[in-house]
This record gives sequence, C-alpha cells and structure tokens, in this order.
Amino acid sequence: MSDEIKIPEVITVGEFANRLNVPVAKVITELMKNGVMATINESIDFETAEIIAEFLELKISKEEEPKKIQAKVKKESKHIEERSPIVAVLGHVDHGKTSLLDKIRETDVASGESGGITQHIGAYQVEVKKDGSKDKKKITFLDTPGHEAFEKMREHGARVTDIAILIVAADDGVKPQTKEAIKHIKNAKSQMVVAVNKIDKPGADPTRVRQELMAEGVSPHEWGGDTEFIDISAKSGEGIDKLLETIIAIAEVNELVADPTVSAQGVVVESRMEPGKGPVATILIQNGSLRVGDYIQAGETYGKVKLMEDEHKNKLDEALPSRAVRVTGLRSVPEIAELVQGFDSEKEAKQESEKSKKYSVVKRAGQVKKINADSMAEDIKLVDRQDLNLVVKADVVGSLDAIKESLNKLSNDYVAVKFVSEGVGDINENDISMADVSQKVVIGFKSKVSPQAEQASKAKGVKIIKYDVIYELISDVKKLIAEMMPVERIETVIGHLKILGIFKVSPKKTVVGGKIEEGKVEKNAWARLKRKGEILGEYQAVAIQKGVSEVESGLSGEECGVSFAEKVKAEAGDVLEFFTISEKKKEL
Ligand code: GDP
Repeated sequence: MSDEIKIPEVITVGEFANRLNVPVAKVITELMKNGVMATINESIDFETAEIIAEFLELKISKEEEPKKIQAKVKKESKHIEERSPIVAVLGHVDHGKTSLLDKIRETDVASGESGGITQHIGAYQVEVKKDGSKDKKKITFLDTPGHEAFEKMREHGARVTDIAILIVAADDGVKPQTKEAIKHIKNAKSQMVVAVNKIDKPGADPTRVRQELMAEGVSPHEWGGDTEFIDISAKSGEGIDKLLETIIAIAEVNELVADPTVSAQGVVVESRMEPGKGPVATILIQNGSLRVGDYIQAGETYGKVKLMEDEHKNKLDEALPSRAVRVTGLRSVPEIAELVQGFDSEKEAKQESEKSKKYSVVKRAGQVKKINADSMAEDIKLVDRQDLNLVVKADVVGSLDAIKESLNKLSNDYVAVKFVSEGVGDINENDISMADVSQKVVIGFKSKVSPQAEQASKAKGVKIIKYDVIYELISDVKKLIAEMMPVERIETVIGHLKILGIFKVSPKKTVVGGKIEEGKVEKNAWARLKRKGEILGEYQAVAIQKGVSEVESGLSGEECGVSFAEKVKAEAGDVLEFFTISEKKKEL
C-alpha cells in the first residue's frame, strides 16, 4: 500500500504522532488505554506503534534500519579465501590476561629483530610456526581491555571474535569474573579455549581448575568434554606454543573465510582524538579489503581513509581481512564497537552515517515503552537465576497483597518469583496476553473470567487456575518452583581399587589390573585416579575383567582388570576411586 507510513524500530511518541499527523494527546491517550504510560519524549517500539496505529485506523510499516554489517561470508562466494582467526582473552582480574598477551607478542616470529610490535592499537597479528613444519600461520589478537569491549561489540551485533581464550589462574581457580566471562563467550557464540595459567606457582592446581570449570559446564576434552584446556605459564612461557597451536587447529576446523574483493566491513576496536592527526581509529577488518582513499562509514561518522598503519608502524596501502589497522580521515571519533563499512562514494558513506545518527538519537531518547512483554521471553537459560513470571488476579486488594507477600517469600537463589501483571477484578484478555509471553498461567483468587479472556486462553493455550483458598495457591506455586530448580550432580563413591600393574596404554585404550580394597567396582562407573591423595583425572571404566572373562562388577578382596577407552597415565601403586553419578533436582 502506497499510503503506509514508515516507522522505525524505535520512535519517540512525539515523532510518532508527527509522522501519523495525529495530535500527540491522542496518541498518548491510545497508549494509556493499552496500559502504556508514556510521555512525548519517551520511545515506543514498532509493535506498540503498530497496535496504536490500528486503533487510529492508520497503516504503518517498518522503516529500514541502517544496514548492519553482515561480515559472515558465504562459502559459495567466488572469491573466498582463508583468513586468520580473531582471538580475545577473557578472565578474572589478575589471572594473567595482560601477561599472556605480552608473552604472545614476544613470541611473534615475524617481529624478529625489528623490535616486534611497536605501538598499541587495540589489536595485533602474530605469526606462529606450525608444529614440526615450516608453515606459518597468523593469529589476530584483540588487545582491548576487559569484558566491556567484548560485550559492547556483541551489543552492536558484531560477531568479532572467532575464538575466546578463557584464562584461569591455577592457584586461584574459578572466580566471579571467570563465570561472567563464560557467559559472555557463550552469548557471543565464540569457540572457547581454556588457558590454565600460573602453573609455575607452588600452589597451582590445574586439576582443580578443570573440576571447577566442569561445574560451570565447561568440560575438558581430555575428560571427554568438548573444550581444549592448555596449562600455561605466562611468566615462563611454558605451554604458550601449545596454546597457539591449538588456536590454529581450531581455526582450521572452523574454516574461517573472507572475501577480499568486496568493500571493507569491520569494527572499531579503539578510537581517540590525536593532536595533529584528528580522529584516529583502529579498525579490525572482518571482510573485504580497506585501501587508502576508500570512503568509510563508522557508526555516526564517515570519511576518506588518509593514512593507514599497522601495529609495527608500517604504512599500508591495503589491508586484508582479519587485519587491524589504524586509520585517519574520519570526521569525528567513532565509538568503540561501531560497525565500519566501505563505500564507493563519499555521498553513500555520508548517507549511511546520517541514517545511523537518526536511528541512535531515537534510541537514546529514553527507555523504550512497549505494550507486550517480550523482554520476559528472552532466553532465561543463560542467567543463573530463573524468573517465575506470574500473572495474578484477586478479588480484593487485601487478598492480592497477602498472596503477593506469601509468593515473594518463595523466591530462592535459583528461582525468583516475579509479577508481570497483577490486579484486582476479573481476569481479562490483557492478563492472558501477559501470561502468553511468560509462564502461560494466570492465577486467579476468587476472580471471575471475562468471556473474551476465556476464549483467548483457549486460543493461546494459556491455563487459568482459580483458587478459593490461599494456601492451595501457594502450594501449587511451590510445585512450579520445584520444577524450575536446577539439577544437581550427585557422586556416590562405590569402591577403591589399588593398581598393581599396567597392561596396556595407548591413546584409545588403557587396561590396568589391581585389587579391590573396599566396596565394589562396576562397568560404566567413573574412576578417579589418585596418587598420594592427589587427583590426576577422571575416567569412565568401559569394561571389567576377572581372569579371561568380562564381568559387570567386582567385589572387595577380588583382583580384576579395568579398561578405559582413552589414555590414562596410571602407575602401579595408584588408587582408582570408583563412583557413580546421578542427577537430582535441588530441593526447595
Ligand atoms: P590481568 O589482570 O589478568 O591482566 O593479569 P596480569 O597479567 O596483570 O597478571 C597479574 C599478576 O600475575 C602479575 O603480577 C603477573 O606478573 C602475575 N602473573 C601472570 N601470569 C603469571 C604466571 O604464569 N606465573 C606467575 N608466577 N605469575 C604470573
């Protein structure tokens, strides 16, 4: 339809009324009728705008958002080439991020006698020799401080890092920021490699780090999980080669590619104003090539690339994918994490930056008010505490208050009771809509249900549960909470076997023989290898043998053979502590 009015994803109430050519008061009234209290300068989202427009019998459609760079390259593209991985280091403060990045810089084989990396530009590329071959591979490291930059880039929709190194100090273990880093890495869908650092320190316990990370859902490859763990010392340099080789190996498996023939696409990793140079920005190129003289747009600013140099202060005419370069020529200083796009003409670059400006003005105008409760439908699995989002209606204020007070007390460390909608009176259609985007349940205490709500609940599959007795209501909500409680891993030690001899050790199979000193051993049970009380690893026993025959289990006093489907570095005299694992929901 040609008379459709274009509305962006987010718009202020004032601008919305303006575009609709309707008095602002009328828009505010319609919003109020729909339960949204918004002033002229506050913003609403497109869905809300759509509902209001419908009431006003006007048709709107979405205005195209400024283009977000999709630096993802299709493998079918004709000009694809391999690109080097882009890597970030995350971890708890003092666990060695800076030391690791410094050490890696020193190991850069390309820098040789030239003095290595000479300036800090927020990212740098190193060349790594592949183990046993002359082949050299490049890795780009993001050297921006902390999680903030990482998170900012994610917010801007830039999937920048291919691989994230989670650094954990072996003498300190998993700390709050380690957990936060895991969340960031998972959210950004980057591949994770764990660097267990400071193994040179006397109190270092790399096994404990593995166990603690297992509890956070990051399981070591050597224990059957999917994450590589590398023990390193950022101080002595031990293990760093292996870490770099692992990164190269992961990059190879992931087949990272880019198309160097298209206009540059990238992201700002550092920016500032420099006397005599003007705005300077480090751009990490994700796809395409950037050349001196190119027109670029970076968020709200644009310009023509005047000067381009790398971390060695080398002047460049052209930069290829996965390279970070410092450029001058932008009209103002762009924000970190802004997306960068190359254009054929100044006009196009300028237009794009203006679009971006307009869009962010609206976005900054204030918190977005919306009619529906989308935010509650967000992925709650990633946060530690889950919300139980309830819609509650009661007959009178007194009983509503009493119910809310009792339900609030049910919140615990794992589940939080939240009221997304509450009120006194009949259960109406709005209650059903609110429940539809949360737990799909409306709780009514001595409330009637309007016929429209009845219908809507059937259509949307929302359950209405009515109560006349408060304690029954509370008891049912308790059951809901019990279902949402996390699962606990319970280990039960079933027996100990003392190893008397090693029959076979290979990467795919280990067989040991020994005597069961107490309890029992079982096929498929787990065994913890202990030497002088120290835990060396956990392995699953895939077979138990007594004499020549395979058995399901062996008892105290008996001698038997135990097989594992992997390499177990056991020695005679070690003890295998057998245990079973069961899972159980945490109790209230
Ligand atoms: P960041 O806060 O994560 O960047 O940590 P730093 O790199 O600043 O390191 C914090 C402290 O730990 C510094 O005093 C480093 O010298 C020290 N450190 C880092 N890595 C190692 C290591 O492998 N071994 C030892 N012994 N100390 C380390």
